[in-house]
Amino acid sequence: MKLSGSCYCRALEYELKLESPDEARTSLCHCSSCKKAFGTNYGLTAKVPLTSFNYTSGHPKEFVGDNGSGTILHREFCDKCGSFILEYGDPVKNEFRFICVGSLDEPDALPPKGEFFCESRSEWMPEISGVFHKMKIKE
Ligand SMILES: [Zn+2]
Ligand SMILES: [Zn+2]
Repeated sequence: MKLSGSCYCRALEYELKLESPDEARTSLCHCSSCKKAFGTNYGLTAKVPLTSFNYTSGHPKEFVGDNGSGTILHREFCDKCGSFILEYGDPVKNEFRFICVGSLDEPDALPPKGEFFCESRSEWMPEISGVFHKMKIKE
């Protein structure tokens, strides 16, 4: 399957080529680093193989920082409109990208398979049924 995505102003556009939807793992993450980075009460990303992802337009701005538990995280976003496009931990930089699901042109194409850091879930936020739940670590 071929999916496309972009930032809000479309200066950045990308293409995602997956053998099947099973190659992507969409998950919610309730950790404090995701809350800050996404500006919401959870982060929503799809983990995909690095080789499936390609920018087709523009060049992202990158921010590199510690996620608070000693892992260096890379985050890429549009330097014009500020949209957050993807992130990845330094240890998996040659293997995976975690794409912000809302940046896909059809975000519903990759529904969630699990939730991470459920211990930090907002009290008002219900659990998603039928997916895995982990109290902490996002692998
Ligand atoms: Zn943009
Ligand atoms: Zn997180």
